[in-house]
Amino acid sequence: MIPPGETIGILGGGQLGRMIALAAANLGYRCHVYAPEGDSIAADVCAGFTQGSYDDEAALASFAAQCAVVTYEFENVAAAPLAAITGHARLHPPAGALEVAQDRVSEKTFVEALGGRPAPWAAVDTAADLAAAVAKIGTPGILKTRRDGYDGKGQWRIMSPADVDAVELTGQPLVYEGFINFAAEFSVILVRSADGDVRFWDSAENVHKAGILDRSTVPAAPVILAQVEEARALARKVAEALDYVGVLTLEFFATDAGPVFNEMAPRVHNSGHWTIEGALTSQFENHVRAICGLPLGSTALCAKGVVMDNLIGDDAHDWPAILSDPANHLHLYGKEAVRPGRKMGHVTRLVL
Ligand code: AMP
Repeated sequence: MIPPGETIGILGGGQLGRMIALAAANLGYRCHVYAPEGDSIAADVCAGFTQGSYDDEAALASFAAQCAVVTYEFENVAAAPLAAITGHARLHPPAGALEVAQDRVSEKTFVEALGGRPAPWAAVDTAADLAAAVAKIGTPGILKTRRDGYDGKGQWRIMSPADVDAVELTGQPLVYEGFINFAAEFSVILVRSADGDVRFWDSAENVHKAGILDRSTVPAAPVILAQVEEARALARKVAEALDYVGVLTLEFFATDAGPVFNEMAPRVHNSGHWTIEGALTSQFENHVRAICGLPLGSTALCAKGVVMDNLIGDDAHDWPAILSDPANHLHLYGKEAVRPGRKMGHVTRLVL
């Protein structure tokens, strides 16, 4: 067990790290952020900050030497240099989870091996691969970068075979996926402790706009609730196969043929922000509890329902109106520059 008072290292300096650090502070831990950018909204609420690149092994080692455990808040950290950490501090979730989740082909292959069902897909490296993938899978479909994509970035919709000609391949590894005609989208978020205790939060129904999460609602629609058990069983298998410690998220499409796996994130997730006020223990607190070896808290819902809206770009300017409704819980992430598509904060409302 890593007792309160010790230091938790966080790789990544964004809002997820900030909310992990706030939860850790409530439990009496100190946090130290490691991120490549010069200023960090996570570091703003932490005791320590190291600016360094994710492949600088010497800097990672000296950062880890100041921490009892290191975690990460996003999955695009290179896995190999993380060996520099494990000589000094524990690393949770394991580097193996990062390796699987940071490449869309390896996550689909991994999930398929466990009995999960992604959209029909094919890896694409060349124009010939793309032509073959579109011929086999058909249109409409989505071409995605295998790595480094987030919030719908690095994605191109192929509505008809003619659209293929307009795609300029840059040599970046891609994957082509058949378009899923889903009834709704949902996520399964679980926490797993080192001794194998697994708990799930209620699954939120997620609505995206332009590839970015817009709203999460709990409870989800009946079409989702009917598929949650199967999706949870898959998520549990993924966590066990990875010997996972911490919070893990799997995103699904609810379809007439059951849950279709979309992607996984080896971390706390935007579709779980509602748990800060809406669950007895938030995803952030249980992540801290799991990586520090503390007993997990209850994931039970503490309201009849919860709605979480993201504040994207200019939405954040509405904070006076949001605060004028006393039922709203406002979270602003402290980002200075407002840009279209940038997640600036979120608002949660409980249905009591
Ligand atoms: P992703 O970054 O892969 O989660 O994609 C962002 C959003 O694009 C998803 O949440 C869906 O709304 C949509 N999307 C991604 N892949 C597919 C697919 N194969 N079929 C239908 N919609 C998709």
